[in-house]
Amino acid sequence: MDKKIPYKIYLSEDELPDQWYNVRADMKTKPAPLLNPATHQPVTLDEMSRIFCTELARQELDNDTPYIDIPGEILDFYKMYRPAPLVRAYFLEKALDTPAKIYYKFEGNNTSGSHKLNSAIAQAYYAKKQGLKGVTTETGAGQWGTALSMACAYFDLDCKVYMVKVSYEQKPFRREVMRTYGADVTPSPSETTKVGREILAKFPGTSGSLGCAISEAVETAVNSEGYRYVLGSVLSQVLLHQSVIGLETMTACDKYGIKPDIIIGCAGGGSNLGGLISPFMGRKLRGEADYRFIAVEPASCPSLTRGRYAYDFCDTGMVCPLSKMYTLGSGFIPSPNHAGGLRYHGMSSVLSELYDEGLIEAKSVEQTAVFEAATQFARIEGTLPAPESSHAIRAAIDEALRCKETGEEKTILFGLTGTGYFDMVAYQKFNDGLMSDYIPTDDELDKSFEQLPKV
Ligand SMILES: *Cc1c(COP(=O)(O)O)cnc(C)c1O
Repeated sequence: MDKKIPYKIYLSEDELPDQWYNVRADMKTKPAPLLNPATHQPVTLDEMSRIFCTELARQELDNDTPYIDIPGEILDFYKMYRPAPLVRAYFLEKALDTPAKIYYKFEGNNTSGSHKLNSAIAQAYYAKKQGLKGVTTETGAGQWGTALSMACAYFDLDCKVYMVKVSYEQKPFRREVMRTYGADVTPSPSETTKVGREILAKFPGTSGSLGCAISEAVETAVNSEGYRYVLGSVLSQVLLHQSVIGLETMTACDKYGIKPDIIIGCAGGGSNLGGLISPFMGRKLRGEADYRFIAVEPASCPSLTRGRYAYDFCDTGMVCPLSKMYTLGSGFIPSPNHAGGLRYHGMSSVLSELYDEGLIEAKSVEQTAVFEAATQFARIEGTLPAPESSHAIRAAIDEALRCKETGEEKTILFGLTGTGYFDMVAYQKFNDGLMSDYIPTDDELDKSFEQLPKV
């Protein structure tokens, strides 16, 4: 080990960021505005505030303020599990016999097991400050629902979670963690909402989807006095809160003279990647430094690499604002044998715009290769990674092996977004040799694109 760089870099409390960074402020072309789904006009703060907490709606619409103060109560909560360590993957470097230097920012050190708590606590704080009774949300794999349950318990807010039915059944322990923190968990689609009843009538026996669970959560929020809807990814406000990941990473890198050449993150809705790269992207946009950024997505849900850049619905029920993003169509549901997470049909509008301008690269990886990387990483670096995070591990290992061929001493940084303890059904499939890769055909995607709204 290099004496100058410790295995784990921890910042001290007074080195933690006290402002979030809003990368939109430095973008020359801003992400396209969200549109009202009925009128196709840009949504106003007033319209947004019926669905979202007012302060969060304001953050959503703010393309101009570069730094936003993190309220003291959120900073206090962050101190329970932050700083997150920046780890030099010495053991992985050695095992790969690569001249590359590999670092990862580990966000799994909290009970929810992922980075999602960074935004959950912010969203719960603004809901409480507005005097609300509670919030509604959806959860797919369960990490967001868990994070939000923790945040709501802390601020004494009601939390109603619509959990995609297949996860509700496959991940009973996630559900139990949420209930332990006081959340009310309903499998989606459900009979408790109009949109849920319609979907059940049309597709009896469906195992549900994120898009459908979002619609149920929005409907419940809009129809319940004192409730608003909150979302754990995709939105620009979530990227803003997640910038805490990138800001800590940048401080640690600057302190030790580490200059990443390549920054890699997995991409579901884009929040961890957006948060990790935001301050680095800011430097790139201002012409102060250059980096390669790589978004890694599953081959079975390839929004950036095979999607269209178009306005689309964020949910199946078509109640949320329309967002211009790389999308597979709001009706797209990844094949049921896809176990690796990152199942959302669309992508953050901020990342979509940066990708469209060529400032970010994207690649897709097949899930067997992802679980190979996950297993290799667990055995070498110790941490059992979330399947989602393992997409980034796959890409980082591939880049490090390329350096071995070329002899280049690149510095590779990736986001290790969480741990995989609740994903053992997926690991079991892999260990039993039963995991397969399903890649959608062009015909399937074309059919889905036909449903894009005409805007
Ligand atoms: C939710 C989740 C992701 C993907 O979501 P993004 O918004 O794209 O970051 C990645 N890793 C983990 C562990 C997650 O829980």
